[in-house]
Amino acid sequence: MADYRDMWKRLNMDLERHDQLCEVLPELYSSVYLDQKDRPEGMNYFNFVISEVHGLRVQELEEARKSGKKVVGTFCVFVPDEVILALDAVGVGLCAGSQFWIESGEKVLPKNLCPLIKAFTGAMVDKTCPYFQSCDMLIGETTCDGKKKAWEILNEYKPVHVMDLPQMKRCKDHTMWNEEIQIFIDKMEELTGNKLTVENLKKAINLCNRKRRVLKRLYDLRKFKPSPISGLDSLLISQIAFYDDPERFIENVSNLCDELEERIKKQVDEGKKRIMITGTPMALPNWKMHSIIENLNAQVVVEETCTGTRYFENEVCEEGETLEELIRNLGDRYLNINCACFTPNTGRIDDLVRYAEEYDVDGVIDYGLSFCHTYSIESKSIQDALREKNIPVMRIETDYSNEDSGQIKTRIEAFLEMM
Ligand code: SF4
Ligand code: SF4
Repeated sequence: MADYRDMWKRLNMDLERHDQLCEVLPELYSSVYLDQKDRPEGMNYFNFVISEVHGLRVQELEEARKSGKKVVGTFCVFVPDEVILALDAVGVGLCAGSQFWIESGEKVLPKNLCPLIKAFTGAMVDKTCPYFQSCDMLIGETTCDGKKKAWEILNEYKPVHVMDLPQMKRCKDHTMWNEEIQIFIDKMEELTGNKLTVENLKKAINLCNRKRRVLKRLYDLRKFKPSPISGLDSLLISQIAFYDDPERFIENVSNLCDELEERIKKQVDEGKKRIMITGTPMALPNWKMHSIIENLNAQVVVEETCTGTRYFENEVCEEGETLEELIRNLGDRYLNINCACFTPNTGRIDDLVRYAEEYDVDGVIDYGLSFCHTYSIESKSIQDALREKNIPVMRIETDYSNEDSGQIKTRIEAFLEMM
C-alpha cells in the first residue's frame, strides 16, 4: 500500500494505533487467502482491493467529498442504498469484523455484548477506521437492542440518523416502514442538498438490482459440484460489496463469473462436503468459520446471512411512474428480508430448506456471534425444521478471537464425519 499518512492525518485518525492495525491485516490475509490453491485469476482484483483497504477507496471518498458529495455509513442490510445513490451520496458498510477493536469497544460498552457492536463502536471511539472518519452521517436502525443503544454512543462522535424498523410484517408495519423510508429520504435530501426524483431513484434502483443480479449469478455458480470458487473467496466478495464502487464491483464480479463458467467445464469433484452457513453477518475481516471449515475436507457453498443471500435476494421492482410507487417498491423488497429481529420469522426457515436443496448441501452450520440473542433464540426453530427434513445441522456460537478455534475445528471434524 502507498503512503496515505497525510490523508489519515486529515481524517483525524489515531495514527499510532492505526499502524498497529495495519500490521495485523496483511499477515492474516496472506495466511487465510493467498495460501489457497488454484484461485481464480479474477480474485486478483479483490486481492488488490484488500491490499488498499485503508488507502485507495478512502482516497476516492476524500475526492468525492471534495467535489461536494456526502459519505454516509451504514450497518445493516435494511438501509436502502438506492436512496443514498439516487441523492448522489456515497454509501459505505461499516460493520466491523476484527478483534482489534473489541478492547476499545469494551471501554464504553458492556463486555457481554455481540462482538460486531463492540467492534464498530471500538473503531469509532478509537479513530482507527478511515471509513468511519470519512462519514458525514451514520445510519443506524432499530434492529436489536444492542445496536439501538450503541447509536446513542456513536452520536457523540458523528451525527446518527436512526431508521425505526418494524419488528413484525403486518400491513400496518409496511405502511410504517414506507414512512420511515420517506423520513430517511428527507434527511438525506437535507444532508446532500439534492432532491429525489423518479428519474434518479429509478436509476439507483436499477444499479442496485444489477449488483444483486451479479451476486446471484456468482451464487448460482456455487451450486455446481464442486463449487468453482471457495467459500472464503465468495465471502470476501460479499464483504467488499458493502463499500466498493458499485459499477466497478459489478464489472469485476461479472468478469470473475465468466472465468468460473469456464472452470466448471474442466473441474473434477473431489467429494468435499458441501456446507451452508446460516446466522449472523460476517463483517470484514471475519473469515474465521470459513477458514476452519475449508481447511478440512469441506467447502462452504452458500451463506444465508447478511453477508450472503440476505444482501442480494429479491430485486426492487423497477415499475412505477411516481415517487410514491417507487418508495412502496423499495419498502416491499426490504421488508422481505428475513432477519431474526422479526417475529415470527418463518420466511427464514423456508429460505433455508430451499437453499439446502438448491445448493445440494450435506450439512448446515448455524453460526451465531456471542450474545446475539435474537439469532441464538431462533436457533431452536431453525434446527428443528432442518432435522425434520433430515438435514444435519450444528450450532456454533463464537466471537472474533481465535481462542476457541481449535475446539471449533474438532467439533466440525466430528460433524463432517457423521454426515
Ligand atoms: S442480522 Fe439483522 S440486524 Fe444484523 S445486519 Fe442483518 S438484517 Fe441487520
Ligand atoms: S449479530 Fe445480533 S446482536 Fe449483533 S448486531 Fe447483529 S442482530 Fe445485533
